[in-house]
Amino acid sequence: IEPFLIIGNWKMNGDRELLQRFSNDIEVTAPNGCKQIICPPSVLVTTACDAFADHSIDVGGQDCSQHLSGAFTGDLSPNMLVEAGARWVILGHSERRSSYSETSEEVAEKTAAAIKAGLTPIICIGESATDREASMHLEVIVDQLEASTPETLQAGEAAIAYEPVWAIGSGVSASEDQVREAHDVIAKWLIQRRVPLPVLYGGSVKATSAASLSAIQNVDGFLIGGASLDPESFNTIGANV
Ligand code: 13P
Repeated sequence: IEPFLIIGNWKMNGDRELLQRFSNDIEVTAPNGCKQIICPPSVLVTTACDAFADHSIDVGGQDCSQHLSGAFTGDLSPNMLVEAGARWVILGHSERRSSYSETSEEVAEKTAAAIKAGLTPIICIGESATDREASMHLEVIVDQLEASTPETLQAGEAAIAYEPVWAIGSGVSASEDQVREAHDVIAKWLIQRRVPLPVLYGGSVKATSAASLSAIQNVDGFLIGGASLDPESFNTIGANV
């Protein structure tokens, strides 16, 4: 599935100055025909859209509510993200699952709401170190996939990001064999369900690992944390795939 997606999850990092640096330092056209997407903190979405007005870079959010409006103090409606200029939204990141007890069922509801609002959700799944040590990782991945995707999901409406929790922020990505195994299982599940979606890998992706990880079958893009905070390393990842 084309183009290869290079998505930066800034998490709770970045400011106007960093957006300006990205705008100055990153080529207007993405390398290798990749699609580059930056997901900054929500208050920077509008600024990011302005900064990237002349670039082919899209902007996304990092979470949204399953509700469209109402008494939900602190939450952000998918419609509000669209109005701010976002086209994508990360949902069910492991940091939200662990720190805010988000369940897969909520992620499925958020996914449906985000699609209705016109966003393309990036649905995150991935096993913990304990799951893997118990050889439960493939079951956990399929269970999360099953429960985090709404019944109504259609081909191309979302992306799946496989992010093994133990590889996030560790400096060491999953091995090529581990990525291949997980992505094969996810791709098979998607084919069975007749909902072809791009499948991204996330977890310590760097410029140095981009070439080998992107060459693995069924790896259709990357979801990048730390290495997406520097314009040069973000762009080099695209140049290396
Ligand atoms: P790192 O690239 O910093 O490991 O983060 C991955 C991630 O969580 C992206 O969503």
